[in-house]
Amino acid sequence: MRLALLALCLSIFPPAVRAAENLGILGRHPRWKVLEKYEQTITHDEFAQLIQNVYCTHGIAPDLIAIDDDSARLLTNRDAQSFVTLRFAKDDASRERVPRLWRAAKSLPPARQEKPLSGLRIALDPGHLGGKWAKMEERWFQVGESQPVKEGNLALKVARILAPRLKELGAKVLFVRNRSQPITSKRPDDFKELGKKILIQNGVPQPREDFADPDEPAKEQTVRWQSEILFYRHSEIRRRAVLVNTKLHPDLVLCLHFNAEPWGDPKNPTLVDKNHLHLLVNGSYLESELELDDERFEMLRKLLSRAYEEELPIANAIAAAMAKETQLPAYEYPTANNVTKIGSTGYVYARNLLATRLYRCPVVYCEPYVMNSRDAFARIQAGDYEGTRNIGGVERKSIFREYADGLVNGLIEYYRTARK
Ligand SMILES: [Zn+2]
Repeated sequence: MRLALLALCLSIFPPAVRAAENLGILGRHPRWKVLEKYEQTITHDEFAQLIQNVYCTHGIAPDLIAIDDDSARLLTNRDAQSFVTLRFAKDDASRERVPRLWRAAKSLPPARQEKPLSGLRIALDPGHLGGKWAKMEERWFQVGESQPVKEGNLALKVARILAPRLKELGAKVLFVRNRSQPITSKRPDDFKELGKKILIQNGVPQPREDFADPDEPAKEQTVRWQSEILFYRHSEIRRRAVLVNTKLHPDLVLCLHFNAEPWGDPKNPTLVDKNHLHLLVNGSYLESELELDDERFEMLRKLLSRAYEEELPIANAIAAAMAKETQLPAYEYPTANNVTKIGSTGYVYARNLLATRLYRCPVVYCEPYVMNSRDAFARIQAGDYEGTRNIGGVERKSIFREYADGLVNGLIEYYRTARK
């Protein structure tokens, strides 16, 4: 469930002084002036194609972005009817350089065969928090007396296996998170007021404080649930974005996740036969998301940075390598409401996630394995080990090493080819 936070900042600024800000949850006031730096860095055709095929695949209200022959008119605020204009480059030859801090593979010097990642800054972002937060994050389940499964811990394990292997290939490896603790200094209690406001704005006039049972369907309408999600999702990922954008300055972020199918009661979870793989890059914004000034601005900045030109081929290469390594079929979303399939492999989708939108560099978001599939569950229980072991009658690598191997092989393939 996504909640739009409409004009909450009005409580701070008297309405007469400032046009209503239309921001997403914990969204920052967009700095539209930044887009001036992208003047004449993109041609009309490139801009129109990226809007149509990648970022606004579900359509966009015509007044938000109006594309003319030589410029685009970008609405900055509907109440104020304010706009900025972005002039296009006349043709490929007259394009200005795209201002950005990250480096595309083809702009890096050629690399030796055995060090295809030399000089590359890769940030690893193990999804979620794990540890004592895993239950709150709803990324925890336990079958009988077996080891509890916590996505945040599994993702961190993969990152720690991955790091030395990427270093060996020449990369400088940075961790966005390297323990089961949040980056944000905020905690759920800091968001009680905001959580309550959001609920009231979304038609719950007198929200309950707490819920007793995590299975309760109405728990999403409690202040506790709202304040927790504001903490572990919105605040945490926004802090990670600040870290990535102002300290780490990577050339690529790999977001590491494990997927799941609905498991019901976390203490008596449903195990399923379905197991699959997919990868995500930023795009496929919903019309309602594009209405928010901050999200529209962030989408435009991402588009203009041309991260997609790097993200798609990297995601394609990783998808092909992971598919080969894991033998998993591509995940098919039950509805295409918020995703758009892109690329040649069948495994890659565009989707507007906080991390893929806010990290200002190429981001590939990995979603292999259904944690509560019988197969993945047995392999998670087996833990990490060298070589292979017999699991369910088949010799298998540890699920963590298989995940890392797929990623490494994909990166080698992409950077070797791009840096010849
Ligand atoms: Zn996840």
